Amino acid sequence: MARVLVVITPAEGHVNPSLGLVKQLMENGEEVVYVCTEEYRSRIEQTGAELRTYPFPEDAFSHDPELKPAEYKHPYQFVYMMVGGIIRKIVPEVLRVTANETFDYLIFDSLMGWGGTIIAEKLGIPAVCSIASFAFVEPLGTDQGLDGNRADVQKLYEATMKLTRQLSDEFQVRAPAMNEISKHAGRLKLVYTSRYFQPQAEKLDDSFIFVGPSIVPRKDAPSFPFEQLRARHHRTVYIAMGTILNKDLDFYKLCFDAFQDLPVTFVLSSGKYTDMKPLEDRIPANFIVKSYVPQLEMLQHADAFITHAGMNSTSEALYYNVPLVMIPLTSDQPLVAKRVEELGAGIALDKNNLTPAALRAALRAALEEVLSNPAYKQQAHVIGESLRQAGGYKRAADAVMNEFANMNSFNVGGFTIS
Ligand code: UDP
Repeated sequence: MARVLVVITPAEGHVNPSLGLVKQLMENGEEVVYVCTEEYRSRIEQTGAELRTYPFPEDAFSHDPELKPAEYKHPYQFVYMMVGGIIRKIVPEVLRVTANETFDYLIFDSLMGWGGTIIAEKLGIPAVCSIASFAFVEPLGTDQGLDGNRADVQKLYEATMKLTRQLSDEFQVRAPAMNEISKHAGRLKLVYTSRYFQPQAEKLDDSFIFVGPSIVPRKDAPSFPFEQLRARHHRTVYIAMGTILNKDLDFYKLCFDAFQDLPVTFVLSSGKYTDMKPLEDRIPANFIVKSYVPQLEMLQHADAFITHAGMNSTSEALYYNVPLVMIPLTSDQPLVAKRVEELGAGIALDKNNLTPAALRAALRAALEEVLSNPAYKQQAHVIGESLRQAGGYKRAADAVMNEFANMNSFNVGGFTIS
């Protein structure tokens, strides 16, 4: 059986979808070495994989100025984050913790982009790309000229290219062009959504395998008093802004103000690293606030979900037929929210163009519409069905193992020798 190296960016939204695949590969007899950070030890070790860690600050995507999600005004900003924040920091660590070892193939996170190609090339193995969001139909920066002579974009372009040249010298690999950095490389690209939900799926070739979200029980998730949900109100709404941009107390207060008089139980996940003390005395009676919620179970109790439209949260909700009210903030979230809206499973609000008072009114109106108009739930069900039918981690593991089944075989005079 094969020895597999898995390298995923240390962010919950990227680690979570890989776990089912890794567990299944282990159950199918592969040996998996998973390189990530200490923060994810428990959930990675539960798959049976062997974890290798490297030093990296906890909750880095919220604090590190190079990683912190910004309002990206130009795709080059995101590419620069990939090269400066991720590839430069993580690739050397991966090569260090796997030095002098051999592997048969690599599974790497798409957020590492060109970094995955470097690792595969240095180890001399083929690769599979794990795509935790929609696949890029065009890699970032493809059709982006330099916006005339915009000096800031030109500077960003040069800084990115300079860094890639430094890294290509350091690793003795070819330097990529701008649009090759985020291009999905590898023999297979596993996308944790359905063909139906992926925008412009018809433009992606057969190396893209749409397996749907990876829904596996999370044994390390905290418990939750589910019995309290229907004690007072018939309906439940879950609010969570993911694991990174979840520290906006003004937004939580706005939710309290907007919803305190609705006959609905609200569950708010406020974030493991969010200090809620300033709002402690203001939590309305119809709210249950927890720093972390077992989201997969919660969604099975929810009538609607107020979310930042992170890809995982969105897919998980749709998997359980839950309609959405979305407040996309950055990265792929506007794209995900747009797609959900296009397919009729939710309403997106543009926080950046609304005053707090307007957002509060819009949020309440959107939630009332989603709860009262059954069309949203029906459309969530349609997308949900496509996600459930996609095959999940079992299909992902089969695709990967089939791809590499004859890897160690070679042909001699018409006979295959393994
Ligand atoms: N999550 C969870 N409980 C919480 C908050 C988040 O289990 O209280 C999980 C959620 O199920 C999802 C991930 O964290 O798998 C968040 O990923 P997403 O892509 O939605 O957002 P990000 O954190 O990357 O912004």
